Amino acid sequence: MAVEKVVIIGSGPAGWTAAIYAARANLEPLVFEGNATWPENHANGTLPLGQLALTTEVENYPGFPVGKSREYLSTALSAERQPWWVQGNDPQPSHGINGPELMELMRQQAVNFGTRIVTDDIVKIDLSKRPFKMWAREGQTAEAQSVIIATGARANYLGLPSEDKYKNQGVSACAVCDGALPRFKNKELIVIGGGDSAVEEATYLSKFASTVHLVHRRDKLRASKIMQDRARTNPKIKMKWNSGLHEVLGNEREGVTGARVKSTVDDKVEELAVSGVFLAIGHTPNTAFLDGQLKLDDKGYVVWTTPARTYTSIEGVFAAGDVADSYYRQAVTAAGSGCMAALDAERWLAEHGML
Ligand code: NAP
Repeated sequence: MAVEKVVIIGSGPAGWTAAIYAARANLEPLVFEGNATWPENHANGTLPLGQLALTTEVENYPGFPVGKSREYLSTALSAERQPWWVQGNDPQPSHGINGPELMELMRQQAVNFGTRIVTDDIVKIDLSKRPFKMWAREGQTAEAQSVIIATGARANYLGLPSEDKYKNQGVSACAVCDGALPRFKNKELIVIGGGDSAVEEATYLSKFASTVHLVHRRDKLRASKIMQDRARTNPKIKMKWNSGLHEVLGNEREGVTGARVKSTVDDKVEELAVSGVFLAIGHTPNTAFLDGQLKLDDKGYVVWTTPARTYTSIEGVFAAGDVADSYYRQAVTAAGSGCMAALDAERWLAEHGML
């Protein structure tokens, strides 16, 4: 088996940016982008193209101002990957770019420079000796002198049995994936959380729902000021402060029919007749496949061992994006660290006479 110079695991902004830089440096990167057909990837929210594939408008990625999406996409993507509206006559969407489109463009940019892609998940990796060896779910293996881990993070659930019972029957951690389903149309819904994601999900759901109850365990949102203003001024969003999800109610035929919400101040329980419960309570890094071989922090994120570098606890293994960043977690910071990881890998390979 040919030993790769660099294998990149993951296909969010960090993975594709690393691939663009590695390909342009003639490292001939191989990317394991994940496989969308595996049910566990749907259940866990670990789909190819990362978390941006689960979002709508991206307003804060530099270079994509409002109004030019059609021009970008009609020339940049092959016909079969273009979103439906690019060739149509509908009015130009008011946003600059949305998450899945941005990711398709990054993927295409990596392909343009010669990146090779395997549409599968790495489920096992041996970092005990070089070349590092890895195994994909459907049997493909690869060996590499260096590896860039860019597997991102996934949305958390509370872990209530009733929440688990009604997953995909009204309980979701992705408004963009599920919000437009008929079961939620003109119904009351709940979003749990107080960060930017919670407000973003509530705002998105307010397009379909009659009312969105934004249930937060404290009396103050963590979300940024602009997102707080959005929640405050949206007539369909009703804040439910100092409250948490206690139980999801429902039945087999209808799925979710209500929720019990418990006060965090006096334990009072209130029942809300909602048809959907959306969780937006933070994320967990996708590091289980590393099987403890890399140093992780107490929340499971890969530890960068050198300031301002993407080095990990094993030489030749680099980490980029949300898998190693529990603090910034932005598309642009993930892309930036993907670039850093490719440059770090290139320099490390050169220093060790492997180029
Ligand atoms: P986050 O900022 O960590 O917020 C998580 C929220 O969930 C917090 O309000 C937290 O409550 C609550 N929470 C956590 N565990 C909980 C539990 N067990 N029960 C009840 N509530 C719980 O996560 P995020 O909103 O996903 O955002 C992550 C990062 O992505 C942030 O840096 C954010 O700025 C960024 N982001 C940006 C945008 C945007 O710019 N448009 C959109 C989405 C995300 P407490 O507040 O009490 O801790």
